[in-house]
Amino acid sequence: MTDRIRDFLRTRRPDGPCLVLDLDVVRDNYIALNRAMPDTRVFYAVKANPAPEVLALLAELGSAFDCASVPEIVMALEAGATPDRISFGNTIKKERDVARAFELGVRLFAVDCEAEVEKVARVAPGARVFCRILSDGAGAEWPLSRKFGCAPEMASQVLEHAHRLGLAAHGISFHVGSQQRDPEAWDRALATTAGIFREMAERGIHLKMVNLGGGFAAKYLKDIPTAQDYGQAIFNALCRHFGNRIPETIIEPGRGMVGNAGMIKAEVVLISRKAAEDEVRWVYLDIGKFGGLAETMEEAIRYPIRTERDGGALAPCVLAGPTCDSADVLYEKDPYFLPVSLEIGDEVLIEAAGAYTTTYSSVAFNGFSPLASYVI
Ligand SMILES: *Cc1c(COP(=O)(O)O)cnc(C)c1O
Repeated sequence: MTDRIRDFLRTRRPDGPCLVLDLDVVRDNYIALNRAMPDTRVFYAVKANPAPEVLALLAELGSAFDCASVPEIVMALEAGATPDRISFGNTIKKERDVARAFELGVRLFAVDCEAEVEKVARVAPGARVFCRILSDGAGAEWPLSRKFGCAPEMASQVLEHAHRLGLAAHGISFHVGSQQRDPEAWDRALATTAGIFREMAERGIHLKMVNLGGGFAAKYLKDIPTAQDYGQAIFNALCRHFGNRIPETIIEPGRGMVGNAGMIKAEVVLISRKAAEDEVRWVYLDIGKFGGLAETMEEAIRYPIRTERDGGALAPCVLAGPTCDSADVLYEKDPYFLPVSLEIGDEVLIEAAGAYTTTYSSVAFNGFSPLASYVI
């Protein structure tokens, strides 16, 4: 927790669960990524945390934005980004949304099949498209499914189709999986990408750009590589596979930009046992899967949790949210160790919660308000 977040909580005493996000940390993350990859343009993945203050800060720092919908594009524009700094990175778009984005000035679109290329060609003539290829997400703690991207063998066909329809076949994108703690994960994807570049060149189409996606980790409980580590591994892989003809590159960090900048303040609502002899206690918080902690799905993301009673003896707890849905359990398969002295009414601090929390919180399930957010 940063001093600014500590001071905010002490002086403002906000009631109910809330995210407090420190913009100084976002600024540091942006600078670190930029420094680690000086020739790479940053397109912040807006979905990770679209708070207007975050977008405005990043726009001011010179960041570009990876948007997945027209409302996200509008938010980026309102934050001060020019349309040439916006990518419509979702491979699944309505044709009228592509048209609207084009009207707003956006000229860079993601595709992963010929049908999507056709939509873009019809309503965004001459725009640049990049084709997303599948990645298995091996080693990522929040791996992405086969939902996005096509088989690498299909990518050249998709891009050739784009070229035929008057679009600029601009490049290739991939995402190595979110919370990817292995910087070498980019190597395999880049080997494949370089192969597609060569194949396209043989057909007279010269791709220009590699979109390296997101995946940069936030520090939860385990150690993570530094921005330098990622930058070095990616640069080495680019040299290995592209030789001295390294293409233009962009990254789309989401979690790595805002994850460690935010902390959620929550409260213990109830502590109980299911049977007198049970060793494991159930600890119910006023926030759960539906209040913003959706990434605890399958216990994938394990947040660091601090309490005012840290330091004493610990005991295993099942941690659950406050709603009436039985799926609203955060950690059970792998119980969470919390202080034995923890009591009902205690405040708990959930760290590194700046990414994928406010956007995932439901509107009013059981009447609970969406996760409050304070950007300081
Ligand atoms: C979500 C997303 C990102 C951000 O991923 P992180 O792992 O949070 O960095 C980047 N690019 C695309 C296309 C995405 O959908």
